[in-house]
Amino acid sequence: MTHPTCAACPEPAVYLDRVSGEHLCAGHLAERVEATFCETLRAPGGPARGERVAVAFSGGKDSSVLLHLLATAAPPALELVAITVDEGIAGYRDATIGVARELAARLGVEHRVVGFREACGRDLDALVEGREHRACTVCGVLRRRLLQGAARECGADRLAMGHCLDDEAESVVMNWLRGDLYRTAGARPNGGEGMVPRTRPLARIPEKEVVSYALLHDLAPELPECPYTRHALRAGVRGLVHRAEFRSPGTMARVVAGQADLEARVRGLLPPADFTTCPGCGEPVLGGSCRVCALLGSALEKH
Ligand SMILES: [Zn+2]
Ligand SMILES: [Zn+2]
Repeated sequence: MTHPTCAACPEPAVYLDRVSGEHLCAGHLAERVEATFCETLRAPGGPARGERVAVAFSGGKDSSVLLHLLATAAPPALELVAITVDEGIAGYRDATIGVARELAARLGVEHRVVGFREACGRDLDALVEGREHRACTVCGVLRRRLLQGAARECGADRLAMGHCLDDEAESVVMNWLRGDLYRTAGARPNGGEGMVPRTRPLARIPEKEVVSYALLHDLAPELPECPYTRHALRAGVRGLVHRAEFRSPGTMARVVAGQADLEARVRGLLPPADFTTCPGCGEPVLGGSCRVCALLGSALEKH
């Protein structure tokens, strides 16, 4: 059997796009990832020239690719600051923080680490003891709050997240499964009331391409997996979405495009979700109740 060559040049292929059936070499795969990234970055909602962009940087493959692309392939004049949240997960986070520091230094990007322990009084491990099945929910709520706070503190105009196409498709399905009408209709505001607006420049790139790009650019260190992942609703949804994509390549892109279409059609039909100020922490919250205070309150009661 001869090795397939790239659809665009005579080089040996390293990647098969199952949607188009095209094989690509390392150079043309990288070119495609960078082109899709730049196109998404320039679309409405992306950063303007000269903006200060905080990058949610866990040190994993997706956010490492995001930081690398923002530092090397984005139009110049973006001012970057990488933010790593230390959740306090034994046997997992210590290794990734070292790797994150190294990559930020290599790319010459300012790097800040913010910890659950400093912000919430204790590590995630202690916060979810006895309710490990809720770890990803607790972690997600607190991590979003810390990222917002850190982005605001360092004067960022925008917060860039490393969500890829797979994550976007999973989120659409999860919102349906949770019956979250506001998220399904895209009616949750992005920014406003002291919240730094978020942007997701990898949202149109499949994870397989992100991972291949990471391997080709030495951005894929061997890291332990988060011990809580297996408990998450997302893990089940991920399997479902990937099986559908395998049987019918292009499913993820269609789910995400359908969501964008739905949002455009229903925009303005739902009353906008209102921000109120949480009496507990003073932060702006949607819908009148603060999930952070609720979580920290119930964690304190338990101890
Ligand atoms: Zn090629
Ligand atoms: Zn609160």
